[in-house]
Amino acid sequence: MKIDESMLGTEPLEIREEIPADDLGLGEEAGLTIGELSFEGTASKFDRGIRIAGTITGSVNGPCARCLEAFDRELSISFRSDFIEGEYFNESAEAEVGQDDLDADVLPEGPIDLAEVVREQIILAEPERQVCGPDCKGLCGSCGANLNLGECGCRDEAIDPRWEALKKLKSEIKNK
Ligand SMILES: [Zn+2]
Ligand SMILES: [Zn+2]
Repeated sequence: MKIDESMLGTEPLEIREEIPADDLGLGEEAGLTIGELSFEGTASKFDRGIRIAGTITGSVNGPCARCLEAFDRELSISFRSDFIEGEYFNESAEAEVGQDDLDADVLPEGPIDLAEVVREQIILAEPERQVCGPDCKGLCGSCGANLNLGECGCRDEAIDPRWEALKKLKSEIKNK
């Protein structure tokens, strides 16, 4: 969907759109595999441009960056994005810095492409390394076992080099 100023009156325009995720190119750019994706929200005109606000919902799936297992989880991003006329952009953008969830862009010459807005918001909101869950334990560095499924047994023997350095430092302090 393309949003043009001429489509907007005094009332916000209600939008409910399915976004074809394959068109967004997020796989190559952000390593994200997105299932169905939709946007629900509004586009409205304000004195200095156009505001698009709403919620993107869908699902993300892919191999976990830590344990490499496939996962599937809900995606939900609420945002407000202001497209401000060029001449006002700098001062408006400055005034808006620090407001959470609000982001500002220059109003393009032509219409605003909703899919492009959604794409940008997903990139802003989603971490670069996708993991199956915040508690994912990953793979054992020695045997490659998935530690989410249980201890593999080699954990006690493997010494993290960072601990080694710390131990050394401790014994140095003791010996002083
Ligand atoms: Zn994982
Ligand atoms: Zn192991």
